[in-house]
Amino acid sequence: MSEEVQDLMDMKIAANNDTEEKIETETKKDSSIFDGVRIINVIFFSLLHVAAIYGIYVVLFRAKLATQIWFPIFTTLTSFGVTLGSHRYFAHKSYEVTTPVKIVLLIMQTITGQNSAFTWAREHRLHHKYSDTDADPHNPTRGFFFSHMGWLLTKRHPLVLQKGRTIDVSDLVSDKLIMFQHKYYIPLYVFWGVLVPIMIPIYLWDEKPWISFFTVYCLRYVVILHLTWSVNSVAHLFGNKPYDKKIYPAESAFVSCITLGEGWHNFHHAFPWDYRASEFPAPLNLNTRIIDLLAYFGLVYDRKTASQRVVHGQVKRHGDGTHPIIAEKNIKG
Ligand SMILES: [Zn+2]
Ligand SMILES: [Zn+2]
Repeated sequence: MSEEVQDLMDMKIAANNDTEEKIETETKKDSSIFDGVRIINVIFFSLLHVAAIYGIYVVLFRAKLATQIWFPIFTTLTSFGVTLGSHRYFAHKSYEVTTPVKIVLLIMQTITGQNSAFTWAREHRLHHKYSDTDADPHNPTRGFFFSHMGWLLTKRHPLVLQKGRTIDVSDLVSDKLIMFQHKYYIPLYVFWGVLVPIMIPIYLWDEKPWISFFTVYCLRYVVILHLTWSVNSVAHLFGNKPYDKKIYPAESAFVSCITLGEGWHNFHHAFPWDYRASEFPAPLNLNTRIIDLLAYFGLVYDRKTASQRVVHGQVKRHGDGTHPIIAEKNIKG
């Protein structure tokens, strides 16, 4: 694709984003965190967290050395199911993949236990389209706890359901592999997300089943949930806004550090189709480097990026002045 065509596409999408902003402001209104608590979810997440806290003790003091080494490796691999899979591929289609890579991403996405790729992607597209409003499933204007995990413990706001039906998911619906995973999500999750993780330490190094359950299942599950949720809470509430000062999403080095690259959230909301999820390649963006590595071997292709000209135009028009190009100009006078 030529640079001019890419620029035209960028500007068209930027213009569409401006249109969405008007809808967002119209739908904004106050609501309480205690609106319709979902008691089953409260019990489930409470028990899961108690099990995960016990899992910390188990992995530190009761597990075999092999489990202690495997735990961070498997947790990191699981995180790629969210970042490379659910987020950058299924929700944003910011790059294209070969069929074997799509199958691997679907398996990794299943292991995360965060609903099917279809459901995750639809919710996330809704989050982007109506960000920071009541139609946003984890609306950050309702506070840190709500945007972090409170949204899963309470009934959906009517606008989430109403606007959710308007989200374009035609690309997902027409994808047989994605819809297969969606249709058979529960048995697939029980196998890939529960049995396989628990059985690996039991079969390969004779770990005790209960130790495997509390560490590589409960603790890993909760760690990945909090890493994912931190993007919706921390990266929507704390940080500078070099690309768009009017929105909640911010640049968070902390979130980028713990999610290996998903915290550059002001850039990501300004240019959601950019596969890098940041203008800058390093240091805290391992996820982008992995996509680049896969592209080097021909396993992924058509990586979409916003051109520097369009990014800098956005910085000048909408940024808060903290971007290096503006900061440098201010120093030089
Ligand atoms: Zn966001
Ligand atoms: Zn996104």
